[in-house]
Amino acid sequence: MSPTPPDALPSRIPHWIGGEETTSADGRTFDVSEPVTNAVYAQASAGGPQDIQQAVTAAQAVFPAWAALSSRERARILYRIADAIEARHEKLAHFESYDTGLPITQAKGQARRAAENFRYFADAIVALGEEAFRQGSDQFSYVVRSPVGVAGLITPWNTPFMLESWKLAPALASGCTLVLKPAEWTPLSASLWPEIFTEAGVPDGVVNIVHGIGEEAGQALVDHPDVPLLSFTGSTETGRHIVRCSAQHLKTVSMELGGKSPVVIFADADLEAALDSVLFGVFSLNGERCTAGSRVLVEKSVYETFKQRLAQRAERVKVGAPDDPATEVGALVHREHYARVLDYVDIGKKEARLVAGGTRPPGITEGNYLQPTVFADVPRDARIFQEEIFGPVVAVAPFTDESEAVELANATQYGLAAYIWTSDLKRGHRIAHAVESGMVWINSHNVRDLRTPFGGVKASGLGREGGAHSIDFYTESKIVHVALGDVHTPHFGGAS
Ligand code: NAD
Repeated sequence: MSPTPPDALPSRIPHWIGGEETTSADGRTFDVSEPVTNAVYAQASAGGPQDIQQAVTAAQAVFPAWAALSSRERARILYRIADAIEARHEKLAHFESYDTGLPITQAKGQARRAAENFRYFADAIVALGEEAFRQGSDQFSYVVRSPVGVAGLITPWNTPFMLESWKLAPALASGCTLVLKPAEWTPLSASLWPEIFTEAGVPDGVVNIVHGIGEEAGQALVDHPDVPLLSFTGSTETGRHIVRCSAQHLKTVSMELGGKSPVVIFADADLEAALDSVLFGVFSLNGERCTAGSRVLVEKSVYETFKQRLAQRAERVKVGAPDDPATEVGALVHREHYARVLDYVDIGKKEARLVAGGTRPPGITEGNYLQPTVFADVPRDARIFQEEIFGPVVAVAPFTDESEAVELANATQYGLAAYIWTSDLKRGHRIAHAVESGMVWINSHNVRDLRTPFGGVKASGLGREGGAHSIDFYTESKIVHVALGDVHTPHFGGAS
């Protein structure tokens, strides 16, 4: 059944360059579809090198004035952006749910989280001090921070608005101007930014948005010589490609990439809490979550029971229309992604034991729907154990002792997040230190403090964003050394 379109759904999604809505220089557009029937509902402008050039020129023109504002002045504007986002929370939730297939109840949290990013970085930039160092009474050194310049921001389709806010807020707080290239499968919520920034009083040209296909608009941004910094969130494969290309101009890069995060559950854990957390961690946001706990490793003595209960609960997860408040898992973002996830389900059926899901939910004949899927007894060399599926599919495997648990947890190329469940405090910390990942939660799931570093190791990323790390990324630190006393200088060339 066709979804009800949200109010004020646009049929065209233009770029936003220098404060003006604009079509592409060559007039090209691309289709935007919704995932419930895969019907095309809008045409978005398809940017290329000329559009990126215009956007970079606009961002360069206002960079000196934006960078020269005091931190307090920029923070005031960021607070107004946060208010403007929250004022649109209903509209944003409906846009996001319609375009991405996220259940409406989960899309509703996105505005508040996005607004908090702006408030947090407004506070952080005002509170920021610059370091000073004194070497006895002879020399004094101090750090001067300045924004790097025009930032290039490239974002993925999962929770698109929220992830865009993660980059926009620290870039603007730091004094950078920028060009954002949103994901082509989900450009709808980004169409709200122009009215939000205008209402908040962001000067024209500080933020520029160029829509388009990754290999065209995104690539032009990556290759532009006057964009010295790239913040990218997306797949590991694209990330590798962008790092290679950015070597040409020695750009500063931050890479938030894929994951295949383990959940390690010991027999002494609160197993009810662990079960709830596993289900939520891998099936919320339709399983399209970079930090999803998609490999569940369970101690042998409780493995059979845990596996059965996980399968029973997965079968009862409510899959349905994204705009139904009772829905727990909606439609996967795009028919191509859906086909890819179904391929993994077929692969999984050959590699392991299917104990829940694996098919369309009964009664739903169209759209990108998959019943939450659980594979058990998954061997470590299976593709469904090793590769990121990015859908409502989880691989479960047993372990015998702590060392095997760590070995299995570390047995993939990824290292984004890890979750550990045990009531033994010492063991929890021991494993947290031994697991190869950028983030670990003990007896908890994805609850995040905005001050903390975010990012992965191995194939999950390069660098850290979040908190002070984001400010470090968007600013250059210059050190100024000042002599306070007489500096000893050898007398070269003084011999007669
Ligand atoms: P993707 O790599 O296909 O695309 C991400 C963005 O890159 C899109 O805007 C796309 O248009 C652009 N792009 C593609 N090719 C490009 C090129 N040659 N040059 C410049 N830009 C290009 O990823 P996706 O499928 O949109 O997103 C899903 C992936 O994102 C998953 O792997 C997921 O784990 C990852 N992700 C990671 C995090 C994190 O914080 N680590 C968060 C969310 C998503």
